[in-house]
Amino acid sequence: MSAPAVKEPSICTGCGILRDPTKPRCGTCGAAYPPAAVRALAQPAQGFWVAVRGAFWCRACGYQGPLNHIEEGDGVTCTKCGVEQKFDTSWKELVAFAHAVGDFGTPGHEGRFPDPAIRLTEAKPHAQVGSGAPWVEAPHGEVTLGNPLCRGCRAPVVAVPGGASFTTECSGCKERRSYERAPAKRYKLAGVVADEHEVDRREVGVTSNRGAMIITCPNCNGQLSGITQSDGACTCAFCSAQCRISTRTHAKVGHADTPRKVWWFHLAGPCAERTQIARRAKQQLEHRAKLEGKDRVRAAQVARDNAAYDAAKKKR
Ligand SMILES: [Zn+2]
Ligand SMILES: [Zn+2]
Ligand SMILES: [Zn+2]
Ligand SMILES: [Zn+2]
Repeated sequence: MSAPAVKEPSICTGCGILRDPTKPRCGTCGAAYPPAAVRALAQPAQGFWVAVRGAFWCRACGYQGPLNHIEEGDGVTCTKCGVEQKFDTSWKELVAFAHAVGDFGTPGHEGRFPDPAIRLTEAKPHAQVGSGAPWVEAPHGEVTLGNPLCRGCRAPVVAVPGGASFTTECSGCKERRSYERAPAKRYKLAGVVADEHEVDRREVGVTSNRGAMIITCPNCNGQLSGITQSDGACTCAFCSAQCRISTRTHAKVGHADTPRKVWWFHLAGPCAERTQIARRAKQQLEHRAKLEGKDRVRAAQVARDNAAYDAAKKKR
């Protein structure tokens, strides 16, 4: 018996996150939901998407700073006060939680990776996902199901297996985009989709001009104007270089109101929590089988005793 096919969740056609069935429009991007449901797409190699809106409590200023991409090194920088702090174990917590939500939060009694040999005996974690507000509170932010959309035609994208970089292909216009693998690998992710992680983007420079901080092109040194607090990438108007603006740079130039953005984890296979729950279910099953076995032995013994008693009675 093979596992039944997973029913992919319904998504918003504006931003790609899980649809809220109780609302006419998306609370995250404001787009009205289309009458016919659009679903996330099946991904290759047991892959699936989880949307992230990360944030951390700054140990220096006490405000929440956004986590809009994985930083180089093991620290993150607060955009409110500019202080860098260690964060690497926290990334692991966020990724593990996202993995569990993506696995168990998927529609169906047992979620994304049911094992036909072992029925789970305890309630499915994150069973409420998909019945109301989409975001689930996570350590260091919130996560939900969904599927990133093509920047051009807004169709859901699909991961392309293999390759030096993590590549996605639009299911509509077939446009491909590639993202760095190294930051994802560091935290056991199959991939990460965020503007800041697109390959061949160089980090912008920062210089000060009479006290004002100016963002410059890493290729031609030209001033990059019109960059907002939410931009993670830009193209130089002078030399067309593809540039990235990391949270660290936003912090450096004083973008204190850099928003929490929606970005994406690509995960693969069952989560660690499922392995533990399945192990408990298996132990229960074995325990029950053992008890039933003991009962059978006892019943046989009783039958033998009765037979011996009857035989003895007959002889008398
Ligand atoms: Zn939306
Ligand atoms: Zn701070
Ligand atoms: Zn497209
Ligand atoms: Zn340039």
